[in-house]
Amino acid sequence: MLDEAMIQGMALRLDGKALAKAVESRLQAQIESHLPQAERPPGLAVLRVGDDPASAVYVLNKEKACARIGVASYGAYLPSSTPFAEVLSTIQQLNADPRVDGILLQLPLPNGLDEGPLLMAIDPEKDADGLHTLNLGRLLKGEQGPRSCTPAGVMAMLRSQGIDPAGQRAVVIGRSILVGQPMALMLQAANSTVTVVHSRTADLVAHTREADIVVVAAGRPRMVGAEHIKPGAAVIDVGIHRKPEGGLCGDVRAEEVEAIAAVLSPVPGGVGPMTVTMLLVNTVVAWCRRHGVDHDLADLLS
Ligand code: NAD
Repeated sequence: MLDEAMIQGMALRLDGKALAKAVESRLQAQIESHLPQAERPPGLAVLRVGDDPASAVYVLNKEKACARIGVASYGAYLPSSTPFAEVLSTIQQLNADPRVDGILLQLPLPNGLDEGPLLMAIDPEKDADGLHTLNLGRLLKGEQGPRSCTPAGVMAMLRSQGIDPAGQRAVVIGRSILVGQPMALMLQAANSTVTVVHSRTADLVAHTREADIVVVAAGRPRMVGAEHIKPGAAVIDVGIHRKPEGGLCGDVRAEEVEAIAAVLSPVPGGVGPMTVTMLLVNTVVAWCRRHGVDHDLADLLS
């Protein structure tokens, strides 16, 4: 399939929506088969504080995804004037709530609320985002635990096309805790040789042009073009930006890169839908673990 795409001179476009749908079907099957034993559905609590308009849309998308597969939503909304102590006690209540398997604190928080201690207050076993310090440490050590959603979604997308990172050279552009760092750890765990480049890297192109896999998470609209990419590479665009004229674009100039790469995960329709799905994966796996039942989702969390 890849060869055919290359002969035609156009990259194969990875379809994150289709993969998200396929993973959702697997999750639904797990829920249905274990529901009699668990006697309650998995529960995800999305906590939103303040009026960030983009967050409102993201939270709605997450709640819709829960409804599609039979996960109960226990969303909580707090106004932007909410004091730190009250946000903290809401998290503590969700930690103690036996119906809740996953908790997500939607970022960004309003000015004046420090996200660090609030994220740390989430029970690591209910950390749907996989961003708790303990869970990042588990990833580093190759131990089981919820995984950071966006990089785990990227790994699932690569594997869905039979792209095995083992022995390949991978370059990750960006070193954030949200995307770049866990992405590099996951690729390394999959036996890729990984280079992380960032805003202070000298001669970034020299690195990316050697790469078989390039994951772009710089948050710079249309930064990566033809000059960055080796012919036949797999390019995953993580960036998301609203264009002034409407619609979305990523960090990659797709029209240039798809003429060179073998595989491109585009924006929109690539990593975005898989990020939401991985939130559900973390929640359903936590639910299975609480009830002592097996699941067949380990390939999505490796
Ligand atoms: P961030 O701003 O926290 O980190 C950006 C990283 O890119 C930094 O490490 C920085 O050093 C590096 N960088 C910035 N400019 C660079 C340059 N010119 N050259 C090389 N490196 C550069 O951003 P983030 O939270 O990691 O997110 C990155 C992008 O991914 C954003 O556009 C964000 O919206 C998007 N994102 C998408 C999803 C999704 O679901 N698809 C999820 C999370 C983030």
